[in-house]
Amino acid sequence: MIACSCEVCTSTDKKDKRYRSSILVESEFTTFVIDTTPDFRTQMLNENVKKLDAVLFTHLHKDHIAGLDDVKAFGYFSGKPMQVYANALTEEAIKREFAYVFSDKKYPGIPEINLNTIDAEPFMIGDIPVIPILVWHHKLPVLAFRIGKFTYITDANKIEEAEKEKIRGSETMVVNALRHKQHLSHYTLEEAVALVKELNVPKGYFTHISHQLGLQAVVNKDLPFGMELAYDGLQLFFD
Ligand SMILES: [Zn+2]
Ligand SMILES: [Zn+2]
Ligand SMILES: [Zn+2]
Repeated sequence: MIACSCEVCTSTDKKDKRYRSSILVESEFTTFVIDTTPDFRTQMLNENVKKLDAVLFTHLHKDHIAGLDDVKAFGYFSGKPMQVYANALTEEAIKREFAYVFSDKKYPGIPEINLNTIDAEPFMIGDIPVIPILVWHHKLPVLAFRIGKFTYITDANKIEEAEKEKIRGSETMVVNALRHKQHLSHYTLEEAVALVKELNVPKGYFTHISHQLGLQAVVNKDLPFGMELAYDGLQLFFD
């Protein structure tokens, strides 16, 4: 965190250095990211990503959409507009926050974006099937996503029973765990652990971590078998 000198922010452990939460999903034919954070450009450069077919958004908060302008680099090389998938509420925010992208008078050097509205229905991005899951970020509806045996849930602290059914059977889930202390709109680490257990998912990773959670090496020691804190650059592989 900017201007903080706590033990996490001054830690020399690489895993205590975190960019904002986002993932890259890749098959043989298709590559997309879930959310474009304010760190999107750095994340793409660090991971040497050469091709991006689409962006899928969870919700409209700035830490999840702010990096969208930088998709223009991919368009520069592909000559194609970026396919963006978002629900109606997020779409509205994108049109507002990036009004210059959608204005009638366009100036050169802006990203070309093609909006695809999604709702609760499963859909495909290239050859990758995606199942949206509705979760609650206090009172804001947020989309989580099931992709094969994998589920990604960021920014939530409540999930209704019917939606939990969509997560069951996952091999791996990523879920937000902000800190130990209760928060209005995020799961605590303890709540996130309980959710992984409740849903019987064998492998749980925690993301959207605040510096208030503590040093990753210390926190990891106390986590149940099969659970650990996610870190920047973590890669997971699925059949
Ligand atoms: Zn700090
Ligand atoms: Zn949020
Ligand atoms: Zn967030």
